[in-house]
Amino acid sequence: MADLEKFGNYIDGGWVAAKQTMQTSSPFTGEAWAEVSDDPAAVDIAVAAARRAFADGPWATMSGRERAHLMNRLGALLTRDADKLGKLESRDNGKIIRETSAQAKSLATYLGYFAGMADKIMGQQIPAPASNFLIYTERVPKGVVGAIIPWNSPLALLTWKLGPALAAGCTVVVKPSDITPVTALLLAELATEAGFPPGVINVVTGGAEVGAAISSHPGIDKITFTGGGATARHVARAAADNLTPTVLELGGKSPQLIFGDADPEAAVNGLLAGIFAASGQTCVAGSRAYIHESIADDIIGRIVARAENLKLGDPADIETEMGPAASDAQRDRILAMVAQAEAEGATIATGGVLDPVLGGRFVRPTVITGVTNETTIVREEVFGPVLACMTFTDEDEVVQLANDSDYGLAAGVWTADIGRAHRLARKLNVGTVWINTYRNVSYVAPFGGVKQSGYGRDNGLESLDAFLDTKTVWVEIEGQTRDPFVLG
Ligand code: NAD
Repeated sequence: MADLEKFGNYIDGGWVAAKQTMQTSSPFTGEAWAEVSDDPAAVDIAVAAARRAFADGPWATMSGRERAHLMNRLGALLTRDADKLGKLESRDNGKIIRETSAQAKSLATYLGYFAGMADKIMGQQIPAPASNFLIYTERVPKGVVGAIIPWNSPLALLTWKLGPALAAGCTVVVKPSDITPVTALLLAELATEAGFPPGVINVVTGGAEVGAAISSHPGIDKITFTGGGATARHVARAAADNLTPTVLELGGKSPQLIFGDADPEAAVNGLLAGIFAASGQTCVAGSRAYIHESIADDIIGRIVARAENLKLGDPADIETEMGPAASDAQRDRILAMVAQAEAEGATIATGGVLDPVLGGRFVRPTVITGVTNETTIVREEVFGPVLACMTFTDEDEVVQLANDSDYGLAAGVWTADIGRAHRLARKLNVGTVWINTYRNVSYVAPFGGVKQSGYGRDNGLESLDAFLDTKTVWVEIEGQTRDPFVLG
């Protein structure tokens, strides 16, 4: 085994040696390759640094334009190092290099979009109820942000939070996933190279205890979390003790609705992208397919054929279409859920097993039929390459089936009928509806869920709101004219 690469935390503009450590490994080889800090006590140091930077450092008095300049420089450095960062992410989470590399190359555009907001943060002048008053508002940064990030798109999901937080003028303590801790550290180091003052971006690695130290920290003014629902409940409870507001971007069980008039090839591409991209390990995985009965056999036949021909292999190989599950636990959970579905009466049309050649953490792309909305696998997030196919007869029925879920992150609609497409967009109770497309995300488009998929939005202009407070200023401009004992 090669020597482990060693990383401390990145706090106050520099590396801080780890006192307690953990290892991170490659899901493809199963070998540990890096050692990182796993020390909840480091959170206090990082929060103190972030507070100093927010209150006293040069960041506190920088104009929006100056903040934007730094953000754009960080974007340029991320682009310079995109190949390296994409490879590291692929090594850490097993996602194919095609996606991790494309994501690393997109970070500058995301930061650029949010940087563009930094000098356009404006309050209002409010018409006063009496002419002797001037009332105006200012939009002020919330303060120190705790950002807790999952493993499936580490740098991209971090940038969704970092961008608006920095544009707003906040400082940040980031905790990347224990499965993918390294790239966030390198981003923080690049921020120093870009000229960010110390303490603006701090990264503390580690597992659940480090996350809990952030969500329960009284020195943090806002928590933004992306991850699973069970963890989110811990985060929200801990934050509630300090009345710290939270944004929670959680999982999903997103439906894809395929009508009889849909372009079958496009719909099958959409199904494929929805469930087998990133080995199904995406929050927006389109894991429930409702297919009109008139075309169900054809569509299921096509998706099974595509699933069986996907190229599984080394995530670092540019030709690979599907990599392994990110951990042994994840692989075991996927296989156990498929076994349970079978026990509940499901038919495995393809997959449901480890790849006989690659083994390890490679679960075959899986399509199952013979399930209903009552089957456990149709109700619970798998976070793996498992598509459950069901049929429907009419529009009202499929809307009811699609909305019959604890989750509400996204939905796909495949139809040639434009009226129906917009009707369904209205009726589906989710955060994002994709019509004749699937799995598109962009900095311009607000992203987030309803119900158990969480609350708050990343991306889009409104993502900035999470990191700002409104301060109201009253000025009496014509001397004291009011009764001091009466509210008004
Ligand atoms: P997870 O909930 O296990 O972990 C998320 C983060 O929380 C990690 O950094 C983890 O170390 C940390 N954490 C763990 N225990 C904690 C605790 N007690 N207190 C505070 N933090 C704690 O999620 P994951 O396995 O990393 O990611 C998969 C989940 O994320 C899936 O449910 C997926 O759907 C969801 N996800 C959602 C989105 C979205 O934008 N809606 C995007 C990607 C992933």
